[in-house]
Amino acid sequence: MKNPNELYQQLYDTYGPQNWWPADGRFEMITGAILVQNTNWKNVEKAMAQVKPWLEPETLIDMPAEQLQQLIRPSGFFRMKEERLKAFLRWFKSYDFDFRNLEQLETKQFRKELLEIKGVGPETADSILLYGFERPVFVIDAYTQRIMKRLGYPFPMPYEEARTYFESRLTEDVPLYKDYHAQFVMHAKNHCRKKPLCENCPLEDVCMKQID
Ligand code: SF4
Repeated sequence: MKNPNELYQQLYDTYGPQNWWPADGRFEMITGAILVQNTNWKNVEKAMAQVKPWLEPETLIDMPAEQLQQLIRPSGFFRMKEERLKAFLRWFKSYDFDFRNLEQLETKQFRKELLEIKGVGPETADSILLYGFERPVFVIDAYTQRIMKRLGYPFPMPYEEARTYFESRLTEDVPLYKDYHAQFVMHAKNHCRKKPLCENCPLEDVCMKQID
């Protein structure tokens, strides 16, 4: 079985650099990370296109709930996500809406505070830390769990164990962590879908095909 470094190389050789996260700026990145919960990126793009003219934390925090809900409606679960965005914004306000203040936070403390925000789970928190603040935390999502399991690794596993699985086997390297996660997303879209397209899959030679 390939080690995670070799596995990354095989994905990279297939898909090339992914240049993630798809966003113009940090606040857009964070908003996208909250809106993408329980949906796909296409729906987030539609919501982002609608919310973009108002995409300033000071503006969104004062926006009436119904107005914000309508703007983000295409991302689904829009009432819940409106509440989650506002919860993040209230926390961000305690740092004067200033990213420089967040940059002062040590990663462990930063992660702890993000996880204390209602509706911010480990995947969202780690996406924000990695893609928004260049912190070396490996993001685990359902695609990662699915692909690793099918390949024959001891997955799925609880979030923190999965994160440690990668972090303990890879060099602490932010660009690598960013691109690796993006490669998994790419592979899940192109081949390792819910119903996998194994024909011509670039990982077929190393895959145990442990498909449910
Ligand atoms: S061979 Fe099939 S199950 Fe294995 S990684 Fe490729 S698409 Fe997924």
